[in-house]
Amino acid sequence: MFKEVIREIEKANKIYITGHINPDGDSIGSVFGLYFALKKIGKDVLPILSNYSSVFSFMPNISDGVESVKEDEYDLLICVDSSSKARLAIKEEDFNKAKTVIMIDHHQKDMPYGKVNAIDSSLPAASELIYNLVKEMNIEFDETIASYIYMGLMTDTGSFNYASTKPSTMRAAADLISVGIDFSEICKKINDTIKESKLFLIEKAISNMEVFYDGKVRYTFVDYDTISALGVDEEDAEGMTNYLRKVENTEVAVYVRGKQNGTLKVSMRSNGKVDIAKIAISFGGGGHVRASGYTMNLENSTYEKEKQKLIDLIGVNLNDDFSG
Ligand code: AMP
Ligand code: MN
Ligand code: MN
Repeated sequence: MFKEVIREIEKANKIYITGHINPDGDSIGSVFGLYFALKKIGKDVLPILSNYSSVFSFMPNISDGVESVKEDEYDLLICVDSSSKARLAIKEEDFNKAKTVIMIDHHQKDMPYGKVNAIDSSLPAASELIYNLVKEMNIEFDETIASYIYMGLMTDTGSFNYASTKPSTMRAAADLISVGIDFSEICKKINDTIKESKLFLIEKAISNMEVFYDGKVRYTFVDYDTISALGVDEEDAEGMTNYLRKVENTEVAVYVRGKQNGTLKVSMRSNGKVDIAKIAISFGGGGHVRASGYTMNLENSTYEKEKQKLIDLIGVNLNDDFSG
């Protein structure tokens, strides 16, 4: 799968690797896993990273991440875990300085923007693609590389519990664990530790919850002023759908939050009956059948109207069980 990708990497000297804005564990895991692997074989490579949640601060040498490109030109940009060019973490001017662009991704409805595009939407995490690439390049996993790739697999699969998890994902994880990484600590730091301010955001999200269609849809909205007043970082304000979607009989959970830049970010999770990738795409966003999102477009509209449109569209889709 990676023949052309490897050829481009071999040809290149100066390389940057980027993920998506609001980086999640898979974005950070695949950027840094590949970064440390390429560094190991002597490439002049840097990871692009900005505005990441402090949850990830414990990961080894995460401070290697840079916000922008120093050079006027460089050989290769590798973009991971981002289905669209618009959501990349790299600045547009820095994207344009790359002589060649490679895209490595796993989303539904990817919009290829690379010269080489390695896309497999059957995989649960971009980090599984990076695992396969590093293996195909015969680079030996060390603890740092393995920790990042494992972290990406773990976060995008709900600790290997989502239906998207494949036997190959488990095998990759087993291989990475055999390197001797502290996978238990990675899980504890990421899944089982929150700041107190986040506890109060959860309280808000739950008290703002609205229920539609006999409890099949749970919706919550928290505005930016509230998030800011609670002292929750933007990057730490994610994840409220996790609580809503646990409630019995829920099919779809929606969390809308105000961002510092004045826009509204919609996060959706489906428990399997409703294809929410389709819904997010119809609003200009994207994602996966069970996890998707978009930015609410309030030009020529209002929040109430856009909210109603979303609730209506989910309602229409509640009845066509696609079982994803
Ligand atoms: P989130 O709710 O932010 O965790 O996002 C869930 C999934 O939806 C991710 O896999 C993203 O790729 C996708 N997603 C979220 N927001 C957008 C957006 N504005 N455009 C495209 N895809 C998005
Ligand atoms: Mn991601
Ligand atoms: Mn991903």
